[in-house]
Amino acid sequence: MYESERFRQELHELIRVIWTASETCYEEYRSAAALIESLQAHGYRAEAGTAGIPTAFTAEYGSGLPLIGLLAEYDALDGLSQKADMTEPCPRPETTHGHGCGHHLIGAGIVGAALVLKDWIDAHPGTGTVRVIGCPAEEGGAAKTFMAREGVFDDLDIALTWHPSTINAAMTGSMLANIMAVFRFHGKPSHAGAAPQKGRSALDAVELMNVGVNYLREHMEMTDRVHYAISNTGGVSPNVVQSEAEVIYLTRSRTNESAKALFERVVNIARGAALMTETTMDYSIRNALSNVVPSDTLGQLLYDKMNEVGLPRYDDEDRAYIARFREILGEEEGNRDAGLLPEFDMDERYRLCSTHPMGDFILPFEPKDVVVTASSDMGDVSRIAPLLQLQCACFCLGTQPHSWAQVAQGLSSYAEKGTLFAAQVLAEAVKTLLSDPALVEKAKAENVRRNEGNPYTCPIPPDVLPPCSTQKQ
Ligand SMILES: [Zn+2]
Repeated sequence: MYESERFRQELHELIRVIWTASETCYEEYRSAAALIESLQAHGYRAEAGTAGIPTAFTAEYGSGLPLIGLLAEYDALDGLSQKADMTEPCPRPETTHGHGCGHHLIGAGIVGAALVLKDWIDAHPGTGTVRVIGCPAEEGGAAKTFMAREGVFDDLDIALTWHPSTINAAMTGSMLANIMAVFRFHGKPSHAGAAPQKGRSALDAVELMNVGVNYLREHMEMTDRVHYAISNTGGVSPNVVQSEAEVIYLTRSRTNESAKALFERVVNIARGAALMTETTMDYSIRNALSNVVPSDTLGQLLYDKMNEVGLPRYDDEDRAYIARFREILGEEEGNRDAGLLPEFDMDERYRLCSTHPMGDFILPFEPKDVVVTASSDMGDVSRIAPLLQLQCACFCLGTQPHSWAQVAQGLSSYAEKGTLFAAQVLAEAVKTLLSDPALVEKAKAENVRRNEGNPYTCPIPPDVLPPCSTQKQ
């Protein structure tokens, strides 16, 4: 039995409360309050409103150094409302939101690790400090990046976090930096039939910008990504020349510098579209985040701890539950599951998945210079302190992130067991770090080397504030 299982009931409640609340991007009031309440009840010194963000928080226990940060997330996604345990799309009538990335489990698992560590610190006073950092708005909000700019992570020696997945693994490789910006075009309205010559269409400009960017794609790095969403079409009347239109762009690249260079090329295309349509254009950066700097030192530590702690034990009910989802998600799909680590050897992965339909295996830790072509605001933390993300199986093999099927499995006993496992592995890793200053120094030296000694600079322009913020410019 894991030590974290002593807190099973409490974590079970937290998982339910956060999953049910399903609060998105900077609106996670009930979720943050539930996590804070639980930490405070166990003696953690908690403070809400970190970095001027109402739904961010910190909670500390222990004293002295090293200072180990445990990063909690708890935000949901819009458009993914789904009832629990259903094997077909079935939205909850009361909300359009859903926990399609399992962040409700991240929050609960981090609290689980913190509660285990509280008892250990009581037995080993003065060995160091654990700080839970409640980070809202990971999905599209880049809260950690805004928090990094305010110095929230500056005094951390190490940062650890986890993400629910379909497999168990310590993360290796990097993730992409990105920049999100809104482009607004301004034209002239006119009767589209009677006086089209008097109109200048902002919607035409948006369309031409998108066409231009689509031609850019052939001339980018293989790992660069550009996505867009039209956020204002200029109305629904085709007989009115659209005088205002808006498109949101998300550009991703391997480093902050290359993301900036790619973004500049997109801005030039927007300028060209405005010139072609005789409209005007302005843009504003909404947020940005840094690429993830890997840590082989921490990866090896987390991998060793996973093996030491041992995988969760599943019962017949868990097996029947997973079998139901495996049936609808497709066995082949499950066997080819990439988890959040698409670079791992496909043949070996296929062998592991097809012989372990419960996902009850630990992916070997093989540090690789690869890049996952998604992004996370933990990248900014990794530019400041050594960071590692653990991944633990909480969903049936073949479950896609950001899908209704993932929301549906969010309250299962299988997901809860994965969360208790994550809590225990993280707690064991922190115990080792608190007892072994040389290991902390080794991780820090690796981080300095990988950052090439460059101090952190926030990729978000100084005048851009998080929404719902009380930060001052
Ligand atoms: Zn996520």
